[in-house]
Amino acid sequence: MKQYKYVLPDNEMPTHWYNIIADMKTPPPPYRHPVTLELLGPDDLAPVFPAALIAQEVSTERWIEIPDEVQDVLKMWRPAPLYRAHRWEKALDTPAKIYYKWEGVSPAGSHKPNTAVAQCYYGKQEGLEGFATETGAGQWGSALSFATNLFGLKCKVFMVAVSFQQKPYRRIMMETWGGNVVPSPSSETNAGRAILAENPESPGSLGIAISEAIEYAVTHPGYKYSLGSVVNFVLLHQTVIGLEALKQMEMAGDYPDILIGCAGGGSNAAGLIFPFMRDKLTGARPDLRAIFVESTACPSMTRGIYAYDWGDTAKTGPVAKMHTVGHDFIPAPVHAGGLRYHGMAPSICALLQQGYAEARAYHQVEVLEAAQSFAQAEGFIVAPETAHAVKAAMDEALVCKAAGESKVILFNASGHGHFDLGAYDAYHRQALTDYKLEEEQIQRALAKLPKVAE
Ligand SMILES: *Cc1c(COP(=O)(O)O)cnc(C)c1O
Repeated sequence: MKQYKYVLPDNEMPTHWYNIIADMKTPPPPYRHPVTLELLGPDDLAPVFPAALIAQEVSTERWIEIPDEVQDVLKMWRPAPLYRAHRWEKALDTPAKIYYKWEGVSPAGSHKPNTAVAQCYYGKQEGLEGFATETGAGQWGSALSFATNLFGLKCKVFMVAVSFQQKPYRRIMMETWGGNVVPSPSSETNAGRAILAENPESPGSLGIAISEAIEYAVTHPGYKYSLGSVVNFVLLHQTVIGLEALKQMEMAGDYPDILIGCAGGGSNAAGLIFPFMRDKLTGARPDLRAIFVESTACPSMTRGIYAYDWGDTAKTGPVAKMHTVGHDFIPAPVHAGGLRYHGMAPSICALLQQGYAEARAYHQVEVLEAAQSFAQAEGFIVAPETAHAVKAAMDEALVCKAAGESKVILFNASGHGHFDLGAYDAYHRQALTDYKLEEEQIQRALAKLPKVAE
């Protein structure tokens, strides 16, 4: 009998997060101050993030204990299942073995609550009243609203105005969990009021929403700012994905040859890949391949440069060395909203730069085509972001078919697409378009990078 699903009992859930920085010979260089461009100290971050998270951000300890209260909440849906895609393998007629870790089982429907829960625990420990954050289409805002509610914290969400108007369902989720959601630009901050004075009809942007959330957090006593990707502590919290998958692959009697994750800021991909990458860094699995998949609409790893840049459009956050297409690059409005970030997690970029990992990019039509093939075989309708990982897994499986090789492929299925069915609908109606990105547009944005003396 074939086994389709590998499930761990509750008591096999990881008790420690894995910090890859401990195993990197050359860790990513430290952050710089957004204004002075000097080295950033922990004190600079203190008004913005809870102290425990700042400590995790700069930690070089390999294993960091997951507090019991955090484990208790994660156990609502973790350990998450790992599947063997027997039916999809058959449909693709490939000798490859395809496995996927399914993060769509969380209450918010993606991997994002893995860090939201941890951040809320430390925020509560520190005596905070609430968190402020930004959200585009609402995936991060809904994860944080879910988590703040469980820890008795308030949640202020600045949601990009155009999504607020056009995508009400995630806003309704946030409000159901008690989140206070306002369209950004809003009249609640100086940053928002300035934009509204110029253009009362502004559709907003993630950059504006970030500025509003940070300003709200630092001007409201008891509030701090919460971030859903990119930084070390977020990637750390996501390693529960890969730590579980390590055990589940062992149950399956296989070890992956190829690991795949879609990458916007890089947190879900790192969550799956880093615990396995440890085996490559230590030399135990030198041939392990790790593929980070991005959108051609925002190709930081495949067409950007490795340089210092601001993490946010408004230049209020830290400057980090990363692959970037420039902090004021405006990506085309692809359905995979979570992959429209101009930079990438510095730890992933360091691994790419050092040759430990690969990157590739796909257009949205081919990605939806792969997701449809996956849905028809495996049942799950994945998010448009996740569909990028699905497409890469499919391509690798087809390479195996051509070569007659039976490689083991494992990808992270970061979330379900139940609120993104418009993307599938557009695909079915052949109304989905690919966007061509001119080199000139990237060069224009790259011209505005900070000049950091190293
Ligand atoms: C937010 C999101 C992403 C992109 O974020 P990462 O930090 O790169 O993981 C990918 N998939 C889903 C389902 C998301 O919600």
